[in-house]
Amino acid sequence: LDTVDISNLADRFKQSLPDSFLSLGPDFYTKVPVTPVPNPYLVGFSADAAALLGCTAQIAHDPAFVAWFAGNSLSTASEKMPFATVYAGHQFGVWAGQLGDGRALTLGEIEYGQSHYEVQLKGAGPTPYSRMGDGRAVLRSSIREFLCSEAMHALGVPTTRALCVIGSDLPVHREGVETAAITTRIAASFVRFGHFEHFYARNRPDLIALLAKHIITRHYPDCDNTDKPYLALLKAVTRRTADLIAHWQAIGFCHGVMNTDNMSILGLTIDYGPYGFIDGFNFDYICNHSDTTGRYAYQKQPEIAYWNLFCLAQALLPIISIEVQSASGKQDAFEEIRTVLGEFKPRFMQALQTRMCAKLGLAHQHDGDAALIDQLLKVMHQNRADFTLTFRRLAQVCQHDTLGDASVSSLFTTDCTAFHAWLHTYRARLVYEGRDDSQRASAMNCVNPQYILRNHLVEQAIELAQEKDFSEVERLLNVLRRPFNALPEYEVYAQLPPAWASSLQVSCSS
Ligand code: AMP
Ligand code: MG
Ligand code: MG
Repeated sequence: LDTVDISNLADRFKQSLPDSFLSLGPDFYTKVPVTPVPNPYLVGFSADAAALLGCTAQIAHDPAFVAWFAGNSLSTASEKMPFATVYAGHQFGVWAGQLGDGRALTLGEIEYGQSHYEVQLKGAGPTPYSRMGDGRAVLRSSIREFLCSEAMHALGVPTTRALCVIGSDLPVHREGVETAAITTRIAASFVRFGHFEHFYARNRPDLIALLAKHIITRHYPDCDNTDKPYLALLKAVTRRTADLIAHWQAIGFCHGVMNTDNMSILGLTIDYGPYGFIDGFNFDYICNHSDTTGRYAYQKQPEIAYWNLFCLAQALLPIISIEVQSASGKQDAFEEIRTVLGEFKPRFMQALQTRMCAKLGLAHQHDGDAALIDQLLKVMHQNRADFTLTFRRLAQVCQHDTLGDASVSSLFTTDCTAFHAWLHTYRARLVYEGRDDSQRASAMNCVNPQYILRNHLVEQAIELAQEKDFSEVERLLNVLRRPFNALPEYEVYAQLPPAWASSLQVSCSS
């Protein structure tokens, strides 16, 4: 199947597949027509994401593509009308009550191969869950979401995907006046922890169970082979979340707004807002200017994920209690839940250790490796050494001489002595491992990216896009879709951030 035009794609959208989100019924969503935008234009397109839907890159050349993904030519017939889902959440640690898709509309599902994906327009106009918002997203945040979704996927990190960004000159008011854009997102499910919290807050265990069954049937079928499927679901989500956060930590990614409504039940990275990749390493790095207390600082992401899993567990408690009682006759389920959540920390630590060892080129883990990693991070922190380049350049270090040390050492400008002491230990560890230098270097270059979406790079792409030059969005996507593949023509994308980058600020405004 190679869908090349919009009419063919439009025909493939289904709202009536068995066990689809829509089959849960109207307690879970509201059907809402997209609000059209004036004079839409194409800002960015990902052929890799299009392939998920069985579409060739050709589809972006269909003259109807732009209007369609702006939402301007969607059918308003109720059986085809998009829907916005209701959820709730804890924002910055505080119960926020009912939220929901305030600016995202799901068109339906596309089946392709063994997979089915939900396709969603973000920024497509107001919904019953918009509260005070306008239902729109600005161009700058849409480009940030588009590029980072595709960059994260290329880094191997579970994430929602982004098919395209469509811009319009429609004015949107934030701190100043900006213009609107619509991002098309793709995911097997957009369900968040907050969806469960909503029905818990409404005291509707029947609806919590319906939603949990949907998620299990569609996404965690193995849970049904246990005597406590809901507890098994909590365990599976706990594991995926631990693995996800380990991956974030290992690439220096900060999400910025780890509210429970931004936590995917599938363990995907979701809702790219004021995220940031760390440049000069700092344990306490805060990417979101609105996060004044540093709740979501780099180093706190694991414990916040754990905290968020407690919120999910609380929302699942009514249905887990019932199955625990009938399976084991116990009065309460706290012990079981505590055991399941207790898996988070060891799972996370092991996943992180495995990733960090791979980043150091260590194929076999040994005693002392955890300390070696800790010491490196401490020296990087002291020196504010560039996170991405440090690991990438470590591949040049050799076991038997110091000839390859210079390029990584140059990143440690505050206290190079401490780094050299660490290098000494590292070299001894490499000798102990006995792996061939060039083999180790190639393995390291497959896990330590050369290119990440640094704030200053996305900023440059945004500035040009605001002048209607979208070439840098395309170029950056091309660089980031092969982040491990160093190319001479992309040299500039692998450089340290320029001085002006340190004054860049991103906030919740989007
Ligand atoms: P976020 O901080 O982007 O994760 O959004 C938190 C909540 O606010 C979600 O329910 C969003 O749908 C909603 N929201 C954010 N921005 C807007 C907007 N411009 N219009 C309507 N709803 C919004
Ligand atoms: Mg959100
Ligand atoms: Mg959002």
